[in-house]
Parts: sequence; structure tokens; C-alpha cells
Amino acid sequence: MRNTTQSDQLFARAKELLPGGVNSPVRAFKSVGGDPFFAKRAYGAMIEDVDGNAYIDYVGSWGPMIAGHAHPQVLQAVSETIADGLSFGTPNPLEVTMAEEITRLVPSCEVVRMVNSGTEATLSAIRLARGATGRSKIVKFSGCYHGHGDSFLVKAGSGVLTLGLPNSPGVPAALSELTLTLDYNDFDQAQELFDEYGDDIAAVIIEPVVGNANCILPKPGYHQHLRDLCTKHDALLIFDEVMTGFRVSLGGAQELFGITPDLSTFGKIIGGGMPVGAYGGRRDLMKQIAPAGPIYQAGTLSGNPVAMAAGLATLKLIQRPGFHSELLDKTNYLCDGLEQAAKDANIAFHTTRVPAMFGLYFREGPVESFADALQSDAARYGRFFHVMLDQGVFLAPSAFEAAFMSIEHSKDLLDQTIAAARAAFASLQS
Ligand code: PLP
Repeated sequence: MRNTTQSDQLFARAKELLPGGVNSPVRAFKSVGGDPFFAKRAYGAMIEDVDGNAYIDYVGSWGPMIAGHAHPQVLQAVSETIADGLSFGTPNPLEVTMAEEITRLVPSCEVVRMVNSGTEATLSAIRLARGATGRSKIVKFSGCYHGHGDSFLVKAGSGVLTLGLPNSPGVPAALSELTLTLDYNDFDQAQELFDEYGDDIAAVIIEPVVGNANCILPKPGYHQHLRDLCTKHDALLIFDEVMTGFRVSLGGAQELFGITPDLSTFGKIIGGGMPVGAYGGRRDLMKQIAPAGPIYQAGTLSGNPVAMAAGLATLKLIQRPGFHSELLDKTNYLCDGLEQAAKDANIAFHTTRVPAMFGLYFREGPVESFADALQSDAARYGRFFHVMLDQGVFLAPSAFEAAFMSIEHSKDLLDQTIAAARAAFASLQS
């Protein structure tokens, strides 16, 4: 068994002072059971805890670490930048370079605004959508997560065409009623909803690959169907690329699937591990944001030079030719190996993948909807998770989160992961 003495002591202290002992719920391991480890350092594809245990890391800080942890070029950019001060409250050159990079790599973003988290990005994007269209309703998909803004913490009412209900105490019912919820990949339902409410809908917001219900890929033509419905009804299509942006392809999921959204939201990779977010899109929409236009949105630390430096260094690394195809090869190699190991152990198991992002399901495939994802055996995943952790592999501490690949995951590390999974699958048989 791993020595977890120091982590256990820290968690006991943390539980007295932080809600649940953590600053973000999933870190508490509640859905897999047990207690979290406390990280001391991370390098390449590895993360090490305060007790000296090292793990092959498939969480990657939940997405930013696509180039690996503590990449020398990212650290150098940060240390050069911090020498000149941490925050200015006045424009700095790196913000302009970042805007040039994002708009070049994601052509649908003609103008971009930097913020400090993915949550801020999605909140701001729907405010813009409502302000620009003069409409109030937004549409989201069950199983998609867009941060913790009130309008997103909403579950579907009793039927598709009913108004949303709060998903958390503290979210006013009057606000949640403005959020309509659809089932991902259901073509007819989206049509039906637009037939009923089309002229009241400000925007449809979607994770173009769902990374917050494990990993669900869109059916062929689904995003185009949404694009067409939005265009027909003058509603805006928002791709929430906080997770997929710069990951599933250099130009994000919109490049991978060939769709042009009106607005996009980003985070994670563009901060290289520093707190960051961004939203951007059509010029005629973005010019309505203050101070260019009347729709208010601001931030003391937005465009922070240190975050920009880390993000720009990361964006440079991922533009190396072949970077994303290498990530896809690694993802396929690992997922094929895991599926074979499960098959050999006679365990019902299925993977879904896109470059650098994959889902592990304890059920047979296919998985095409949130309802399908929910049928994964979460208790079994929890047991698998802990046997993997004890063997030095850190997977997402939840059966409903995607796993992330970095460019630093070598073949040797992938083979070690597959070997650990063989032992873990065998342990599930007993
Ligand atoms: N949107 C998506 C698709 C996400 O995955 C997340 C976070 O995981 C967010 C928005 C919220 O981002 P943040 O946690 O930076 O607020």
C-alpha cells in the first residue's frame, strides 16, 4: 500500500478550514471514495505527492497541461515575465500577442476578450448573446458543464419542452426557467425545441465533445444540425471549447468538425496552468462588449501578464508540426491497450477518444448520449481507480470526467498504464 501519512494529515487540517477540504469539489474524491493526495510537484507526464509517491497523470490539471507539467519553456517564459512585475492594471503587450494567436488559430474568433476562468468566459458569452439578440432563453445539454454560473446549474424539467429547474440551492427558479435543456445527439428533440421556442432563444451553448460526462462524441452531422437551427432562428451558436480548444485539434473542435460557431469560450491550455479564460467570436458581436459597446464585462486581473506568458509559451509548443497527430496516436495506443486488457479479463469496458482526450466506460459501447454514459458502472470505476492509483496511475477521480493525454506520455508510460490496468481488471473479477 502507498504511504499517505502526510496527505492524510493535510486533508484532516484542510477539512476544518475549506468546504469538504478542497477548493473545487471533484478534488475531494467523493465519487470514487477515499481521500485525495496532496501534490508536491509535477513534471512531464508525472505528478508526485507530499509522501513521495509518483503517478502517471491523466488528469493534467483538468486540461491545461497538454505539453506536460513544468515544461522548461513555459517555466522560462513565466520567470522572465515575473521579474518585471505580476500585474499592472493597464494594458500589456502580451495581451495583444495572445489575441493575435487565438484569432489566428481559431478563425471564427475575429475579436477576443481575456478573462480569468472558463466560468467567467461562459457567463460573459451568454450575457453577450442575450444582450446582442435581445432574447432571454439559452439552451444547454444535459451532461455538459460550462462552469458554475447560475444559468448553467440547471436540470431539465419533466419533459423536453418544459422550463429548467435549479440544480443547486441558491440558483433562483426565475433564472433557471430561462435555461432549456436538450439531450446531446438527439436531432429531433433539438428540432422540436426550436419549433416551440426558436424565436426566444438567444443562444445554444454546447461542449462540442462532451468532456464532463466522461467523453461523448457528436454524431456525424449533429453540430451542423444545431448550426442550421441557430442560423434559421437567428440564435447564436456558442462552442464551449474550454476543454476541447487547442486540444482535439490546433483550431479546436470547430476545426475538427468543420463548424463555425458565432461565439467560442476557452480556458485551460491558453493559460498553460495559470488561471485564465477567454471568449471571442464574430466582430459585430464582440464590438458590443464594453468599452466598445454597451454590454458590460470587466476584470481586475484579466490579461494578466504571467498567465499570458505561460499560455503563449504553451501555444507555441503545441504548434510544432505533428503535435496533435502524435497525441492521437498516443490516445489510440492507450485506449486500444486498455480495451484489449479488459477483453482478456472479460470485463465490460468501452473507450471513446479524440486526440488527447478519452473516456473510460465500464459498460459495452456505443456511448452516444448522457443516458448511455450514466449506465457506466461507477462503483466499478471507483474500484478500478483505486487499484490504478496504488500502482502509480492517476485517473480522473470520477467516472464522469474525461481523461487527458499530454505529449510527455511516452510509450513506456503508456505500457506501464496498460500493465497496471491488467492487474486492476483482474482484481475486479474477484
Ligand atoms: N466549460 C467547460 C467545458 C469546462 O470543462 C469547464 C471546467 O472544467 C468550464 C467551462 C469552467 O472552467 P473553470 O473551471 O476554469 O471555471
